[in-house]
Amino acid sequence: MLELTLEQISMAQVAVDKSAALHLLAEHLVADGLVAPGYLKGLQDREQQGSTFLGQGIAIPHGTPDTRDQVFSTGVRLMQFPDGVDWGDGQIVYLAIGIAAKSDEHLRLLQLLTRALGEADLGPSLRAARTPQDLLKLLQGAPQELALDAQMISLGVSVDDFEELVWRGARLLRKADCVNNGFAAVLQQVEALSLGDGLWWLHSEQMVKRPGLAFVTPDKPLRLLGQPLTGLFCLASLGEAHQNLLERLCALLIEGRGQELGQATNSRAVLQALGGEVPAEWPSAQIVLANAHGLHARPAKVLAQLAKSFDGEIRLRIVESDDLAVSAKSLSKLLSLGARRGQTLEFVAEPTIAADALPALLAAVEQGLGESVEPVLAAPVHAVVQPVAPRAVVAPQAGAIISAVPASPGVAMGPAHVQVPQVFDYPQQGESPAAERERLQVALRQVRDEIGQLIARSQAKAIGEIFVTHQEMLDDPELTQDVEQHLNQGKSAAAAWDTVIETAAARQEALNDALLAERAADLRDVGRRVLAHLCGVQALAEPEQPYILVMDEVGPSDVARLDPARVAGILTARGGATAHSAIVARALGITALVGAGEQVLLIEPGTVLLLDAQRGRLTVAPEAAVLERAAQERDARELRLQAAHAARMEPAVTRDGHAVEICANIGDSTGTPAAVKQGAEGIGLLRTELLFMAHNQAPDEATQEAEYRRVLDDLGGRPLVVRTLDVGGDKPLPYWPIDKEENPFLGVRGIRLTLQRPEIMEAQLRALLRAADNRPLRIMFPMVGSVDEWRQGRDMVERLRLEIPVSDLQLGIMVEVPSAALLAPVLAKEVDFFSVGTNDLTQYALAIDRGHPTLSAQADGLHPAVLQLIDMTVRAAHANGKWVGVCGELAADPLAVPVLVGLGVDELSVSPRSIAEVKACVRELSLSRAQALAHDALTVGSAAEVRALVEAL
Ligand code: PEP
Ligand code: MG
Repeated sequence: MLELTLEQISMAQVAVDKSAALHLLAEHLVADGLVAPGYLKGLQDREQQGSTFLGQGIAIPHGTPDTRDQVFSTGVRLMQFPDGVDWGDGQIVYLAIGIAAKSDEHLRLLQLLTRALGEADLGPSLRAARTPQDLLKLLQGAPQELALDAQMISLGVSVDDFEELVWRGARLLRKADCVNNGFAAVLQQVEALSLGDGLWWLHSEQMVKRPGLAFVTPDKPLRLLGQPLTGLFCLASLGEAHQNLLERLCALLIEGRGQELGQATNSRAVLQALGGEVPAEWPSAQIVLANAHGLHARPAKVLAQLAKSFDGEIRLRIVESDDLAVSAKSLSKLLSLGARRGQTLEFVAEPTIAADALPALLAAVEQGLGESVEPVLAAPVHAVVQPVAPRAVVAPQAGAIISAVPASPGVAMGPAHVQVPQVFDYPQQGESPAAERERLQVALRQVRDEIGQLIARSQAKAIGEIFVTHQEMLDDPELTQDVEQHLNQGKSAAAAWDTVIETAAARQEALNDALLAERAADLRDVGRRVLAHLCGVQALAEPEQPYILVMDEVGPSDVARLDPARVAGILTARGGATAHSAIVARALGITALVGAGEQVLLIEPGTVLLLDAQRGRLTVAPEAAVLERAAQERDARELRLQAAHAARMEPAVTRDGHAVEICANIGDSTGTPAAVKQGAEGIGLLRTELLFMAHNQAPDEATQEAEYRRVLDDLGGRPLVVRTLDVGGDKPLPYWPIDKEENPFLGVRGIRLTLQRPEIMEAQLRALLRAADNRPLRIMFPMVGSVDEWRQGRDMVERLRLEIPVSDLQLGIMVEVPSAALLAPVLAKEVDFFSVGTNDLTQYALAIDRGHPTLSAQADGLHPAVLQLIDMTVRAAHANGKWVGVCGELAADPLAVPVLVGLGVDELSVSPRSIAEVKACVRELSLSRAQALAHDALTVGSAAEVRALVEAL
């Protein structure tokens, strides 16, 4: 094993150049019996392949795979060169660490040096070191402390076997950023050590980033190698950090107190015993349960879901019972409490989330957790934090009209298909493995048939492909093998299936990769289908005719897998118009109303619904006459759209001769031909982040150039507006981790992020300039909030432009941050154009997160405050002879088009599907009336008033 010790260090060596230094090192390694003389060639070859200079004045010369047979035993030798040795490219080495290793053990050395390499300017100190002790101290840096706090302890976790428990321990270490992803697999290979008293120990140094200790206990006693297992320590070992802890643990075991750990019910007790970081007393709150049938499956599910929405530990116990507190996030644990009406529930939450979580949990319990409840009379309700006043939610009655946010235009009608998560109750133990196996086979066959029908019915290829993947998942031999194991242990088919699917899905999610997280959602989807068959829960049959899908909230991936031929419209309880799911709905052309409130989830399946996304109105079970009128309106709209479609290639000119340029928003080059076919006069927004998201690492310059070139080729001389990489906030890149931020939307996003990584921004700009070939290219920077940010971006382009000249280039910024609009008079002097990103501008101007589950419905871009900012931008731009586009979703809203045109916006960039309609809207206007309308819109106080003004036009 590679370790750094004093004996390995030779101080004050001299070498005229790198070659001499390598000779010296090789001689030393040979003299100490670590390698054969032939190893020198390995050292030399390795330097030829790439310098081993590490930075901070350190190099780590080592051999190549071809010279592994020259190594007798693994080891290192350190040589200090106070005069420095040029290691190539002017990189001066003061310390060479020669490694003799048969495999990739230099990685272990890097690990040992992690701290040292993080220090600033270590080189001069290495050079000045007088003794081996000094040098070693410098290399080891300050000793790292062992991470051990409440987050590293998980008690009573529901696991079936030792492997699962190991996996849970490793996951805690991963979450604490102590280890890399593969640590769980490493631990599975390590031999477990019994400490006695049911406690076991596992440790490894591989994949460790910083030292940490996790402690996990299973919910039921397990056995390992014939002995009981009540608790498992998993140590991510690095250096000596765990010494004190080990001593303390030994003392505890000698005192005979080991069992305390295995039986502990709260992390405080464990931390106190081990001397870890003991958390402050956790806040608690109590409330009397009023549900008639107690905390049974349905309300428990609602409670668990709510608890899961908080990022921290929440435990629940019944005050009147002696039972231990359980995790409020575990449905099965909640059910095991058997809480009855009239009993007092006590929630305990981690201090970091308590202020938010406790009131929310109390309010939810008070509101009945999805059931209507009669208060328990005379029962005292003690609450540390006052809950918000309960609000009864009842199903809307026939004829009810509910306002909601239009997220995708159109009028749609059809029977409601209400999708709320199903609750599955099943026994843990099965009849016999054979009977359960047979049961599962039947269910799998049924689900295969079901999915086969879905595939046959899918008109969109991409949707069909999703279902094909689902079928493959059903046949996955690894899943089958795991299920088989559980069945053989006596589990019921449903319990075995659910456990395996959940474990596999959780594993995928833990890998922190957007694509794998989607695969986890797919796995759960398939899992639920099978469970529904096993538990005899009737999955709600899809109505035969096109239906209105009613859901709590629709994720973008849910929308992507919808079949527009079967789904006439989407209605959600939560969500807003600029959430990315709404953007996908618009791209698919499915009418959608969002943010209609929880009441819509109580609508009886099959009830006829009328969605009017023109006016933002839902009518429940409308009268026949209303439906007929709506159908007429829908058909008339359809005709209008057809006419608009026929004229889509014509320019958009108002009746009094004012032309507005209509362009398309696209995500990648494949969208260009379709956009042109839909009548786009150019691309007004190329969201380049999709190209970056489609790769496992930042695409290189050539890949990018080819992509941008394709777009320009397909545009045939029309202009292309490209937005430089816009990630951060709600759009993280899996390979570009961003530090966790309290408010990512107010954090390192857009240009703020790319300016921190200028090499990535430069590569993108070079690729763009190279692709231009004198065609009209416009580049804009996202999220600019200050003049300085704009100037930094501009200067970079201007510098590169000297190298790669382009003739038709304009540079601009997106106006998405209110400060950019407020600075428009200054910026307009320097930029060539502005493009208003109303999605973000609205969220920042109104202080409403665009994806907020309940508030985003109010984030309407027609709010007069947002219009004022657009007005300022246009005025400043026009005063300086510059143009302004709008590329946020507002540009496609038929009620917004007259206002934006009236404000003087020169270009509207919308999803290709909306181009024809937006052009038709412009043609119906006269500029003078639109200007009067815009003037009035700036004087009212709400978005609703602006919409009313437009409707009255
Ligand atoms: C906007 O914010 O309006 C915009 C067009 O950018 P995105 O929706 O991609 O954040
Ligand atoms: Mg934006």
